[in-house]
Amino acid sequence: MVEKIDLQAEKAEEVNPGIHIESLEKHPELKELLDKVDFDTLRDILKEIADRSGVNTERLNFIDPKRIYHLQSQLKLQAAYSGKRRAIFINNVEIDDAADKFGFSRELGLVHALCHEEVHATSKNECRSISRENKLIEEVTIGYLAHRTTWAEPINIKEKEEIFYSLFNEGVTEKLAQEVFAEYLRRTGGAGSEAAKQILKTYKENPAAASKYWEASALVDFLVEKISEKCALEKQRVWQAFVEGMYKGGALEDEEVKNGFDEIIGSGMLKKISTAKLSDIQVWMELLG
Ligand SMILES: [Zn+2]
Repeated sequence: MVEKIDLQAEKAEEVNPGIHIESLEKHPELKELLDKVDFDTLRDILKEIADRSGVNTERLNFIDPKRIYHLQSQLKLQAAYSGKRRAIFINNVEIDDAADKFGFSRELGLVHALCHEEVHATSKNECRSISRENKLIEEVTIGYLAHRTTWAEPINIKEKEEIFYSLFNEGVTEKLAQEVFAEYLRRTGGAGSEAAKQILKTYKENPAAASKYWEASALVDFLVEKISEKCALEKQRVWQAFVEGMYKGGALEDEEVKNGFDEIIGSGMLKKISTAKLSDIQVWMELLG
């Protein structure tokens, strides 16, 4: 959910007048809800995943509550993570709406949104700016997502924006976020509660309630299945490799990996997936099916 807001707050408000970011102090109802979240348990779970993926967890980019802000946006985002600001933004109005619509608690809706954004934060993160011929090129890597923006200097006008693997990254992130969420409920004793059972049931029966990226997760499921079948590997192993790639980074730039995908899902399909948008997903599913 990062692509639309991955800018400095001031710039974000300038470029997208519909976005408004404020400290939690001005939103006591959201602060109160966040105070109920067990961030230590959430951090432990994400640390274990990063550890299993073979990355150094000493400097895990886990976002503490002090780097969480309130977001108001016309984009209907529930939450967003910015790699450049190392911050999470929460739109509690959207979270409350989803909770009301699908009949689960606001607190659990918030925890699920946090699980998704913390997966983005703890996966491979890299930000750099390069100045070249009066242009500023910003490159942001978040998991599988590569986001490149070219700004014309000195007037700072956005000239070009390229986004790769956004859909694939969201699919892997959301699938993993649901695992993190279920584990959080188990460890905090919430899994046995009626509210927790209800939210997990809702997600299963109505995946659109869990995330606007549920179709991207379905694409990832499909790829896991296909690779597992063709390579005679257990699905869990393939899935673990996808998670590892998101934490270690660079996996899809590897020629061997690219060739492997080409062989399994068809030549050039990975390249097509790299630029696919959420609105294209049905087309991809049909093409791959
Ligand atoms: Zn996201």
